[in-house]
Amino acid sequence: MSEEIPVKDVTPINASEQYEGVSAKVNGKLYVRAINGFFNKLRTFSLWGLMLAYFITPWININGTQAVWFDLPSRQFHIWGLTFWPQDFILLSWLLIICAFGLFTITTLAGRIWCGYTCPQTVWTFIFMWVEEKIEGNRNQRMKLDKAPLTKSKFLKKLSKHSIWIVISFATGVAFVGYFYPIRELVPDIITFTIEDHWASFWLLFFTLATYGNAGWLREMVCTHMCPYARFQAVMFDQDTLIVSYDERRGERGEGRGARKKGVDPVEQNIGDCVDCSMCVQVCPVGIDIRDGLQYQCISCALCIDACDEIMDKMHYPRGLIKYTNEHALKGNKVHILRPKLIGYASALIIMVGIFIYSIFDRTPMEIDVIRDRGALYTNSSDGRLQNSYFAKVMNMSTNEHNFTVTVEGLPGGELSGKTTIHLMPGDVGTLPLNLKAIPWELEKSRTDVRFIVTRDDGLVAEEESRFIGPVGR
Ligand code: SF4
Ligand code: SF4
Repeated sequence: MSEEIPVKDVTPINASEQYEGVSAKVNGKLYVRAINGFFNKLRTFSLWGLMLAYFITPWININGTQAVWFDLPSRQFHIWGLTFWPQDFILLSWLLIICAFGLFTITTLAGRIWCGYTCPQTVWTFIFMWVEEKIEGNRNQRMKLDKAPLTKSKFLKKLSKHSIWIVISFATGVAFVGYFYPIRELVPDIITFTIEDHWASFWLLFFTLATYGNAGWLREMVCTHMCPYARFQAVMFDQDTLIVSYDERRGERGEGRGARKKGVDPVEQNIGDCVDCSMCVQVCPVGIDIRDGLQYQCISCALCIDACDEIMDKMHYPRGLIKYTNEHALKGNKVHILRPKLIGYASALIIMVGIFIYSIFDRTPMEIDVIRDRGALYTNSSDGRLQNSYFAKVMNMSTNEHNFTVTVEGLPGGELSGKTTIHLMPGDVGTLPLNLKAIPWELEKSRTDVRFIVTRDDGLVAEEESRFIGPVGR
């Protein structure tokens, strides 16, 4: 004969924990219960990978230059060996559009997995929650601690938690500013309190406070009230999009959810598989009950799946009462992997990625910009020839130093003089004052199109159109 088991005895993960109510929120504060399961392990894996990438990347150097460095004062973006200039702004625009379409494609296919596994808000919030759990204990211990009067032990626990949060926030701010300010100079400057750049100090403080506030205090409120993505995600969803969903037909079967004896067959008893333990609610980092249906607050973190699977195991029921599925599967309809919306987003994404990659490799890492001397249209030189003056700005957009030589084509009998060669370090811009002379009677018209060509020491060339101006045509 089956033993009567109250729900509270089948739900705790840890024997020392006591079941306390069905709401994840107590006195307006969300106390998220820790859970260990497949999806949580998956997130821990992605979380560490992203954190390591975030903190280590600014310390990597390529050819003596920080591998990822958005050098705003010099208007250069160094990204893994490539240097981007304001002239490459179009590439940045492409990149942002690619990111947007990437997000649209992933969301249409797999719902909000970006939110659940990789969004910085999620990553930092989970780290902060982990610290909280280590210092203040599990969900029930945290609730008791908050209710208890202030004692020395409580004060020390709170102080430790907030201190570690601030250290993590500060490290986050340092790493962030390190993407814009050479981190190998920034860190010693911070340690010795000799940081001179006021903007660097401002952003360091700003990101420390923003991280502490967002991951420590605001948490799910950022996702539910501040993030615009939560609001417009519905546009990208269709009935085949992957969602975390409660199987209502199974969970609410017959007389519905509720406590029962362990080992009771719910099908025989005509009751739902849900034992109403509320574990799925207690682990939810945004404080919703997935059994109420798909809600815009859900970040697809799958913690409720891990929690429910654990309960199903304890009850010897099949897993998957809460699972990743889609509306069509839940209704028993055919699931379509390829559908027009997804094909549209994916096609646009593939095309844009192709164009972006082509543009990157087709891009010449040097540029010449020719400006005519505005002081005079032309001058007559002592040898009887006409002379136009120019300033040629040569940019070395590569990561190596090079010699550059400027020549000109398109002007019959034309002769270029002035400073025609220059040595430039990586990222440098050099200005060459140039004079171009022509024999008057060889000019066919008053304005002759000419081409200034800059040749790098390895043969790479770039060119710029300009004009030679004379009095009248022949
Ligand atoms: S309902 Fe489940 S998947 Fe959605 S946020 Fe809550 S725990 Fe995560
Ligand atoms: S859905 Fe699963 S975790 Fe949630 S109350 Fe029911 S049995 Fe418990």
